Amino acid sequence: MSRPVRVRFAPSPTGPLHIGGVRTALYNYLFAKKNNGTMILRLEDTDQTRFVEGAEKYIKESLSWLGMEIHEGPDQGGPHSPYRQSERKPMYRQYAEQLIEAGLAYYAFDTSEELDEMRKRLEASKMQPAYDSVSRMSMKNSLTLSADEVKSRLDNGDDYVIRIKLPRKEEVRFHDIVRGWVVVSTGQMDDKVLLKADGMPTYHLANVVDDYLMGISHVIRGEEWLPSAPLHVMLYKFLGWEDAMPEFAHLPLLLKPEGNGKLSKRDGDRLGFPVFPMDWIDPKTGDKSSGYRESGYFPEAVANMLAMLGWHPSDNRELFTIDELIDAFSLERVSKSGAKFDVQKAYWFNQQYLQKKSPSEVYKMIESIVEENGFDACQEYIESVVVLMREKVQFAKDIVLQGQYFFKDPTEYDQTVIQKKWKENTNQILGDIAKKFETLSEAASPEEYENSFKEACEYHGEKPGSLLQPLRVVVSGQGVGAPIWDMIALIGRDYIINRIQTAIGKISFSIG
Ligand code: GLU
Repeated sequence: MSRPVRVRFAPSPTGPLHIGGVRTALYNYLFAKKNNGTMILRLEDTDQTRFVEGAEKYIKESLSWLGMEIHEGPDQGGPHSPYRQSERKPMYRQYAEQLIEAGLAYYAFDTSEELDEMRKRLEASKMQPAYDSVSRMSMKNSLTLSADEVKSRLDNGDDYVIRIKLPRKEEVRFHDIVRGWVVVSTGQMDDKVLLKADGMPTYHLANVVDDYLMGISHVIRGEEWLPSAPLHVMLYKFLGWEDAMPEFAHLPLLLKPEGNGKLSKRDGDRLGFPVFPMDWIDPKTGDKSSGYRESGYFPEAVANMLAMLGWHPSDNRELFTIDELIDAFSLERVSKSGAKFDVQKAYWFNQQYLQKKSPSEVYKMIESIVEENGFDACQEYIESVVVLMREKVQFAKDIVLQGQYFFKDPTEYDQTVIQKKWKENTNQILGDIAKKFETLSEAASPEEYENSFKEACEYHGEKPGSLLQPLRVVVSGQGVGAPIWDMIALIGRDYIINRIQTAIGKISFSIG
């Protein structure tokens, strides 16, 4: 029988969650749901120097905004509580000590000056400046000091760390679901610290101990952790947990839009797109980083976009709801190569989801924007604006911002259109169009407006096409926008006539 799927998302609450981290959470979630498994949130907060106020709350809120459900975690509880590593501190030491007993780890008493000296010495002789199976023999540790000295230092309460004792040259092999076989020699690895001087475990020890204790079946995480995986494999082996070792899947990096290098916060600032799920205000500096949520993205669109950055379905389909993603997802379809972030694609996804929303859902999103702008309109009217505008915009708020003419008379008119399209008789023909409109009923249909317009153009011997943009400019101020006849019918006869008359009083034809 195969083991139950249990995955964890294990962020360190050191700041806002980058969208790369959100994608890691999402792949874990999709994989868990696909396999009727359990999604665990574990906070890796052992590095207290990097603790950031509000980061944990931010992480949880981001996951919930994107529709990811946590089955076990600090808020949900579960059979392996607590789920915050700082609260699990007493659990880790015994494993480090177990390794010492077995001769697979050692105490190291080196001061930071001594460590610096070692690094300089090794660098000077063009060697890797690492604390490893060679250099450890010239350092102050329980491998080089006498048993008595070690004992007296420990009894004295001297500072020490516990380091793993890696064999000189042994092949570490493991299979990664995304990358295939990974083979590294311990000769290229260093004796990483497992337990720090403050008694806290390092990431490596805490991560492996918790994955084991929590029965994690698959470790799905970013590629930046791939170099740590051989050490983790060695820890499983040394602790006698090889049979319970999870499978690994290291996800490709999210790359800058240009394709070179990892996507960073600065790329977002530079190119004007969010790299965080939600707005974040740095508690120390007060600096704000913008998020997808506040920028007007739908959570479904963000989840869909992130899913496609590094994973692809078996066909060319791009639009997936979360449930459809769960259905289609597999780690085997995660690609090895980095995924380039594409802001145009992000807009596209949002636009697709905007079009799927019902007018009343969109109304709820933009109601406050209508109000903030001082526009007065009822729900039915706003919903009709939504229907006419949503194909033209990528964000719900732009329905109001780019479609202001639905709510107020234009005060400015697109000068490029005026210069290009106005002729001596343009104002006169527009005046006649207004007169034609006067003969229509208040509830005239878009077709009736169109027919009246055509009649007026015909009367003046003008092609309707040459007057279409001038009419649009006088009624909306803009050269492009919502389908014109629907727009005119919605704004209403009297407003339209008034707008035409006001505009022709202001726009004058000038030669040259
Ligand atoms: N705490 C690590 C992080 O911040 C977790 C890495 C892992 O998933 O093993 O990403």
